[in-house]
Amino acid sequence: MPADVGTIRRHNLALVLGCLHRRGGLARTELAEATGLVHASITTLVGDLVARGLVRERKDHPTSGPPPGRGRPRTIIEIVPQRCVVLAVQIGLESVTATLSDLDGTSHWSTETRHGARYGDPEPVAAAVAAALARAQQFAREASGVLAHCVVAMAGPVDSASGVVVAAIDFGWDHVPLLALVSERAGVECAMTLVNDGSTAALAEYRALCTERGRSGSGAAAPGDREAPPRATMPRVMVYAKADTGVGGGIVIDGQIFGGENGLAGEVGHVSVDHAGRACHCGSLGCLATYVGPDALAADAGLGALAEAEGVSAAMARLLCQARAGESRTVAVLEAAAEMLGSGLLSVSDVVNAGHLVLGGYFADLSDWLLPGVTRVFNRRPVALHLPPVPVTLGRLGRRAVLDGALILGFERVLADPTLVPLR
Ligand SMILES: [Zn+2]
Repeated sequence: MPADVGTIRRHNLALVLGCLHRRGGLARTELAEATGLVHASITTLVGDLVARGLVRERKDHPTSGPPPGRGRPRTIIEIVPQRCVVLAVQIGLESVTATLSDLDGTSHWSTETRHGARYGDPEPVAAAVAAALARAQQFAREASGVLAHCVVAMAGPVDSASGVVVAAIDFGWDHVPLLALVSERAGVECAMTLVNDGSTAALAEYRALCTERGRSGSGAAAPGDREAPPRATMPRVMVYAKADTGVGGGIVIDGQIFGGENGLAGEVGHVSVDHAGRACHCGSLGCLATYVGPDALAADAGLGALAEAEGVSAAMARLLCQARAGESRTVAVLEAAAEMLGSGLLSVSDVVNAGHLVLGGYFADLSDWLLPGVTRVFNRRPVALHLPPVPVTLGRLGRRAVLDGALILGFERVLADPTLVPLR
C-alpha cells in the first residue's frame, strides 16, 4: 500500500530534524546534500520545523573563505534544544529518580524522592511519578517548551503496550497498571511509555560503546560529531546484564532494544543454571538470580541479617569491603558466583549469537572478582566453533545508564515524528 502524504511528510521532517540533531547547524544546501531531498522540499520542511519552534535560522559570518566584503553571511539552520523536553523516570525499591532533559542532552533538573511504598502497594510510587510529571510540565510551560514524552523505567518485566507492570516480585506487584495510576493523579496530558530498566540501560550502554568506538575507531567521527561510527565496528547483537535490586538485563539488536514477543526479553536473572537448584520467587528452580543476585550474594557471604536490617545496598557495601580485604569466605562466594554468572550469560549469549556482553550495576562494582570467571567461561566455548570469544566488558555509564537510556528512547520518538511537537 502506498504511503499517504502525511506519513511521507512526517518521514521527511524526521530526516531533516535527525540530520540537524546528529550534525549540528547546517545550511540549506548542506541539508539537501545530507538528506537527498531537493532544495524546495528542504525550504518547506524547515519552514514547518520553524513553525513548531524546533529549529531556527542563524546568520553565520564566515571567518574563512572569500575576502571580507565578498562573502555573504550564510543562513544556518539549527535546533532549538529547549523547545522539546523529555522526562525520564526510574523506579527503584526505595525511591523514584527523575531527570528532565532537552534535545541537546542538557539536564534541567533531577530529583530523587523516597516513595515509602509498602510491599504490594504501588500507589505511593504512582504519586511520586505523577509529582515529577507535574513539575516537568510546569518547567516546559515556563520555558515555552513542550514536554514531548515521559519514559518510565521499571525494575521488572513490563507490558509496554498496555503500560502494565507484569510482575515485580521485589515490589509485590502483580499486573499493576502503573501508567494508568500515574495519569489519574498527574492531571497532565503527556505521552508516556513504560519500559524495563534493564532494556533502557542496555540501550544507553550500546550508545556509549558506539561513541567510544566512533572516537577511537577508524577516525570516522571527529569530537563533537554525533554521527554513529561505521556499523562494521559495532556488534550487531549486545547482551547486557546488571544486578541492583535484583538481576536484570537487556538485549540490543542493530541498535534497537529487542523486546521479544511480549517485551519480556532480556530477563537474564531467570535463566536456569541448575534445574534441581535453589527455589526462585518466580516459581522456577535454579534461576541465575538465586546465585548471583545481591540478596543471594549477601546471604552466602554471611551478610543476610545485615541485608534484612539495613537493606541490600548496605550489605553489598560490606561485601565489597570484605572482598577487598581478601576475606576468604567472601572471595570464595564471588568466585563461585562468577562461574554461575558466566554459565547463565553464556546460554543467553549463545541463543542470540551475541557479539558483545556488558556487565553493569553490582556486577561491575564486583568486577575484580567476577570478570575473570565470566571471561573464562566465555573463552571456553568458541574453541569448537572456531569463532573469537565474545568480548566481556564493564558498563561505561554506571548507575546513570537506566535514565540515560530512557531519555534516548523518549527523544527517539520525537526525532521519528517531529509533529508530536505542535505548531506554535
Ligand atoms: Zn526465577
